[in-house]
Amino acid sequence: MKNIIIFGAPGSGKGTYSDEIVKRYNMGHISTGDVLRGEIKNGTELGKVAKGYIDQGQLIPDDLMIDILAKVYDENEPGRGVIFDGFPRTIAQAEALKKMLAERGHEMGIMIELVVDEETLMTRLLRRAEIEGRADDNEETIKKRFEVYHQKTEPLAQWFEKEGIRHTFTWKGSKEQMLDEIFAGIEQLN
Ligand code: ATP
Ligand code: MG
Repeated sequence: MKNIIIFGAPGSGKGTYSDEIVKRYNMGHISTGDVLRGEIKNGTELGKVAKGYIDQGQLIPDDLMIDILAKVYDENEPGRGVIFDGFPRTIAQAEALKKMLAERGHEMGIMIELVVDEETLMTRLLRRAEIEGRADDNEETIKKRFEVYHQKTEPLAQWFEKEGIRHTFTWKGSKEQMLDEIFAGIEQLN
């Protein structure tokens, strides 16, 4: 199984579709957001640093994030494909990921881009705030995260395009339909 990079704005469903893909193809799953929230919950030094950025809707600095990613990646069962959820988020992270994988004789695999209109994203994130109570799911911080996404992360789509691995899936109102299209895409590409 190839590696998969799942890419999209906050609330686009990266975590939700990752869970479904992981179940279906028995892959590893690295969600950098979940890793950071785990560190915060455990009160580690890294968690304290991360919380300062997350609560402001800002990205954790690249150097730190790249170190964390390599460490978590090396804990994955060898030979099993991994889904990267929430990483890379900047060009520097993408370059680092490509290099890190190449050093291990691995490849990025497939990039899956989720495109969802901003009104739907905001509605989803505000609903999630009521259910999960994530500190960064409030209207002000969400707007900041959208801004950071447009500025730093969205340009990466072009970077993946140039790598020849970008595959775009656009939300048309149904999770089932989206999932069917994503599975069909993965099977065609593997
Ligand atoms: P969703 O999970 O709904 O897609 P999201 O993409 O905003 O929303 P996470 O991926 O969980 O949520 O990330 C939450 C926060 O963790 C980010 O806003 C950022 O502060 C930090 N973070 C996660 N991944 C990275 C990364 N690769 N680089 C820098 N910061 C990150
Ligand atoms: Mg997530």
